[in-house]
Amino acid sequence: MPRLAVLGHPVSHSRSPAMHAVALAELGLAGDWSYEAIEVAPSDFEALVGSLPRRGFAGVNVTVPHKLAALSIADSASEAAGAIGAANTLSFTAAGVRAENTDASGLLAALPESPAGRRALVLGAGGSARACAWALREAGARVSIWNRTAARAKRLAAELDVVQAHPSAGGWRWEPDDFDLLVNATTVGLDEASAPGAGSPRTALKRVLIDADSLETRHIVVDLVYGDSPTPLTALARQRGAQVVDGLEVLVHQGAASLRIWTGMDPPVEAMRRAARAS
Ligand code: NAP
Repeated sequence: MPRLAVLGHPVSHSRSPAMHAVALAELGLAGDWSYEAIEVAPSDFEALVGSLPRRGFAGVNVTVPHKLAALSIADSASEAAGAIGAANTLSFTAAGVRAENTDASGLLAALPESPAGRRALVLGAGGSARACAWALREAGARVSIWNRTAARAKRLAAELDVVQAHPSAGGWRWEPDDFDLLVNATTVGLDEASAPGAGSPRTALKRVLIDADSLETRHIVVDLVYGDSPTPLTALARQRGAQVVDGLEVLVHQGAASLRIWTGMDPPVEAMRRAARAS
């Protein structure tokens, strides 16, 4: 019976077990395959992964803070995982541990249209910003990166051969013409989405230089952050009539891509979406 899991620290909040349980049932694999959450500290990560194949695991998703370690312990890696420098999906094969990054393909699959030729502004320079910026660049977008710690944005922009962004016209905020597609890959909004009323949405967005009034109907706004409530960015972007892709939609598509890798079957995306949003 092939086992699957998500490894993280912490991991109890993860919606992946519920989402994958529904997906496996829809695929007729429920009695055969299983998916669980496993809490593992960084110091135990490598030893745990080494033990998984003999315990019947076919693969795992990997989340914070293990994505860099997941790539480094793999025997082989996809081009995306290698270029991004992080992996969120491991498969245990006869040839060893294979690392892939479905955060990148998941973002592209979640978009309502191709980003080719669009000006994409990625906020953040952490692990998920790397995946987003790489994916968007590969898909033909003109990518800019901004980060609170400018030196990290500068390094990442140089590494990916994209532009380090600054608000135009010397202002503190992004202007509508600075981007067509906005991706929040920082943790800003997590507190507000986890505890409604935690603070003013407009104040939260100032941390990433967004004035909600600069969002327009022509903009596509992606927020990787998700919680039990809408994030400040998704709430205000919807009010402004922008096209919004929330973090759960990205989660669903990265999970679907992982499931395809492990099972070779077409994932039931709609059922996964319902499960992720209900859990
Ligand atoms: P990470 O590597 O820890 O990076 C965090 C980023 O947030 C850094 O760029 C950091 O800037 C910035 N940041 C933190 N606090 C800030 C503040 N007060 N103001 C402005 N910027 C701030 O995290 P990650 O792994 O990339 O994840 C980022 C978010 O995406 C998390 O909420 C995660 O849950 C979410 N995520 C969602 C999905 C999905 O499927 N939906 C997938 C992956 C990640 P500095 O460099 O200045 O510290």
